[in-house]
Amino acid sequence: MTERREQLTRNLAGVEERIAAACLAAGRKRDEVTLIVVTKTYPASDVRILSELGVRHVAENRDQDAAPKAAECSDLPISWHFVGQLQTNKVRSVVGYADVVQSVDRARLVTSLSKEAVRAGREIGCLIQVALDAEESGRGERGGVAPGGIEELGELVAGAPGLRLDGLMTVAPLAGEYAGRQRAAFERLMDLSTDLRRAHPAANMVSAGMSADLEEAVAAGATHVRVGSAVLGVRPRLG
Ligand SMILES: *Cc1c(COP(=O)(O)O)cnc(C)c1O
Repeated sequence: MTERREQLTRNLAGVEERIAAACLAAGRKRDEVTLIVVTKTYPASDVRILSELGVRHVAENRDQDAAPKAAECSDLPISWHFVGQLQTNKVRSVVGYADVVQSVDRARLVTSLSKEAVRAGREIGCLIQVALDAEESGRGERGGVAPGGIEELGELVAGAPGLRLDGLMTVAPLAGEYAGRQRAAFERLMDLSTDLRRAHPAANMVSAGMSADLEEAVAAGATHVRVGSAVLGVRPRLG
């Protein structure tokens, strides 16, 4: 085994242990939580190792990095999630490899994703990114729509050809009433998910929790955690 492979094996086992412990503590079954490994800033060779180690979902936040990486890994049985702020001029590229876009936060993006998904003959899963630090109907500092905008955007996605409404995503806010209160933030996201599922029962994905707060997310009821640095190491640059 190469050194990198040993390192990723060890880190992945550590994260797996944390998820299992969090599930046990919350009285949840381990298979209720899916691990998505955030591979941003790391090379395709790491994705390949992760795939060999059994990882089935990876996430990226920049199309410039993700597109060539996904192309290099197109032979792997792995799903690609896009989790970054997405400009409409990148949508055609992203739709070429992403199975799920977790950062849907505005009507114009929905229109663009739908158009490109239809053109590519693909169905793209969409999560509405919720900004818990945004004003009533505004948008968050790091993307996302305020809770008041979820319903309208959900309807739009649900009715858009080529798109599938899968659920909600959030990043624990650094500012506002939820700053430093991850558990409360994720519980709020769960409540919003309950509301959304009244109209859209199949939209049951709840993506929350990262390396630092995956336990809080699992405790709150998240179905997907997005873990980067705890698996791959601390990123050399912001991303
Ligand atoms: C980078 C990133 C993560 C992973 O963060 P870590 O702290 O490295 O686990 C999760 N979600 C999003 C949206 C990200 O951009």
